[in-house]
Parts: sequence; C-alpha cells; structure tokens
Amino acid sequence: MYYYSSNKIASSVSLQEAVVKGLAPDKGLYMPETIQQLPFDFYKSIANFSLTEIAKTVAKAFFGEDIPKKQLDEIVTDTLSFDIPLKKLEEDIYVLELFHGPTFAFKDVGARFMARMLSHFVKAKAQKDVKVLVATSGDTGSAVANGFLGVDGIQVFVLYPSGKVSDIQESQFTTLGQNIVALEIEGTFDDCQALVKSAFMDQDLNNQLNLTSANSINVARFLPQSFYYFYAFAQLAQLGRSGEVVFSVPSGNLGNLTAGLFAKRMGLPIKRFIAANNRNDVFTEYLRTGSYAPRASVQTIANAMDVGAPSNFDRILDLYVHSHKSISNDISAYRYNDDEIKHTIKAVNQKTGYLLDPHGACGYMALKEGLNPGEAGIFLATAHPAKFKETVEDCIGSVVQIPEGLKAFMQHEKKSFLLPNDYNQFKKTLINLT
Ligand SMILES: *Cc1c(COP(=O)(O)O)cnc(C)c1O
Repeated sequence: MYYYSSNKIASSVSLQEAVVKGLAPDKGLYMPETIQQLPFDFYKSIANFSLTEIAKTVAKAFFGEDIPKKQLDEIVTDTLSFDIPLKKLEEDIYVLELFHGPTFAFKDVGARFMARMLSHFVKAKAQKDVKVLVATSGDTGSAVANGFLGVDGIQVFVLYPSGKVSDIQESQFTTLGQNIVALEIEGTFDDCQALVKSAFMDQDLNNQLNLTSANSINVARFLPQSFYYFYAFAQLAQLGRSGEVVFSVPSGNLGNLTAGLFAKRMGLPIKRFIAANNRNDVFTEYLRTGSYAPRASVQTIANAMDVGAPSNFDRILDLYVHSHKSISNDISAYRYNDDEIKHTIKAVNQKTGYLLDPHGACGYMALKEGLNPGEAGIFLATAHPAKFKETVEDCIGSVVQIPEGLKAFMQHEKKSFLLPNDYNQFKKTLINLT
C-alpha cells in the first residue's frame, strides 16, 4: 500500500519508506491510501478472539500487502507479549489498562511494533542497518529504548536532558546496554531535540550513517495503537455491553485518539470519542470554536500530555477532509487542571479502591462528564500510577507500591555518555560509537 503526505505536496511512498522517513519531505504526516473495512463476520465473532488474533487481523488490513503474513504475525505476537485488560470500575464505566508492557505505559505497543517492523526491513536486506535517534523528556525514551532492545540491525541513541528526568525514567533507558546508548546532554529537552534535528539535516553524517527517528508520528508506531480499541470492544462484547460504546482518550499529541478514529473507519462500531486534555487544551478549544491556535505548552502533573501543538492534529483534519462539523460529530472534549486531577485520584481511590494515574484521571473525568444514559464508556489508562509515585502518593496520602518489573530497572547500573550541548561533539560521539 502507498502512503501519501497529509500536505499533499510530497509524492506517495511505500510502507518501508514511510517507516524509515517518519515525516514526509513536505513536513506532512504519512496516511495510508486506503483504510480497509473488516468483514462483518469478524465483528460478529470478535468476542471470541484473543488480543493477538484481533491484532493479526487488523495488522493484515494495513500492512498485509507489504509484509508476508508469517512475518507480520510474528511482529504482532512479539509486540503483544502482555495483556491489555478491561475492568469495570462503576456502572457503565470501564477502564482499559494499557500499562502492562515493559515500561508500564501505552507507548510500549507502538514502540515495540515499530522496532520489529523496522528490523523486518533490515533483515529482508531491503534496508541498510539503521541508527535511531530519539530525544526524550522522559517517557518516550523509555518506551523506544525498551521497544528496540536487542532488535537486530538497529542501534538506538536516546538523548535526554541531564538532571531533568525522574530517576525511574532515567533508569529505563540508561541501564539497558546492548544496542541502546544513552546520551546525557547538559541542556534542556529542547536542546536535545535541536541536536537530533541538526543530525537529520547534516548530509555528511547521513552519508555515513543511516539515521531514522522513532517519534510518535511514525506510521509504524501510530497505526498499531488501533489494535487495543478492537480488543477493548471485544471484551465489552463478552460482557454484553457493546451497544453504544464511547471511548475517552487522555490526549497530548493525539496519536492514541487518531488510532481510535482509524478503528472506527475500519468498521468497529464505536459510537463516539471523548478527548481528555489537561490545561494544554488546544484541541478542546478547536472543537468548541472551530479555530486551531497552537501555543507553547504549560507544565502539569499529567506531563505526557503537556503538548501545545499536537503533532497528529493534521491526521485528524485529513481523515475528516477538514470538516470541523464532522470532527465534532465524532469527538467532544473536556479539559482539567491539576487540582481537579488530584481531587479525582483521591476521590476514586476512596470510593472504589482503584488507583488512577494523572493521565488516566483526565480520561475518567471526561467520561463521567460526557457519558449519556444508555452508553457504555471506556477510558484508557495510559500509564501505571507508580510511574507518577510522588504525585499519586501526595493525593491519596499513602505509599504506592512499585511493581517488580519497574523496580528491576533501578537495580541495574546506569551507563550514559555525558555531553555538552554542542553539535560537533555530539556528531563525533555518534560516529565513534557506531
Ligand atoms: C504519550 C502519553 C499520552 C498522550 O498520548 P498522545 O498519543 O500523545 O495523545 C497520554 N498519557 C501518557 C501516559 C502518555 O505517555
């Protein structure tokens, strides 16, 4: 299948090119040329299928023309080695827990899938060995590093601002070894991002190394996120509640939400979506006013949603042919400040014993506020509450247990290369380490 650029200037490319390039040369986002409807029989018996069975079917619809079935099935199975359970929280309110992967956040799904797909292209000798560069303020680095860990033909460089990520986050990409290199930059996250950008624009470096990015706009990271919408629906169908399904999605760059919109396009009977924002409410404003005004982000306790210019917004526009009316038919949105988030974490914990993380808390609140009688609502819990230990403990006034898998990272030795915020030193280090 071909992928076109949402800016419609650059020419369409193959899946492989879309995955290796990430962003189109005209700065547009790659979109699949067709979105295949899945057969009626699949939806009729979806309640009987496992997560991997469902994901194989969905993956085939997107990537089946480009990757042989056997390899594609392997990519799916290797990616989804953990469960994504749906739990009932209250009457009509269900939570889909997306945080049972290696780094305890939903980005594991996309990062793991992308790593395996890229490795497939390298192994098929259609692609030279690649070097992945990723700048992180915390969570993306851990998901990408763990997603690519030990994957053949790919070396990953994680750039992060020294002293500006939490100990837990830092341990998740500095203790891995193998094909993962951590570069600790004496600067800010923006400096890290600027270094990565300079590297991509450096022809000399690109001639020596085959560089690619693993950010969330990559089609191989973004499309696999549709898998779990189908699986959530299947689990709801098992409970006999699949009539009027509404998804509430904690949103930052809107990748997760857009993947849900794709699932709906493929025929999954989702009634509508709710986007949950924190104080970074550019998308909420757009839905309410019809005008899109990106701006600088502000810091909140749901920091993975601190995005002032959501990178997948153009995908939503393209999917709905720029019609604000059709977009608002399918999506509504709500925004919450830190006090509301904290209050909700505490109140839900007292009432039900369930522990929300700050992002999931936004999804929960938006669902409570937006759900109509007769609808069944699912909100996505995008991170394990222990990843935000201090904030959550502050809310509930008691200690949050860290899961063994998360603790394990912190027991290994940190290894990183400390570098000044200087492009030439960064470039020299890259060349020396490859
Ligand atoms: C990345 C992230 C989000 C936002 O997802 P988008 O796809 O960028 O909208 C929400 N919650 C957590 C925990 C995240 O890491």
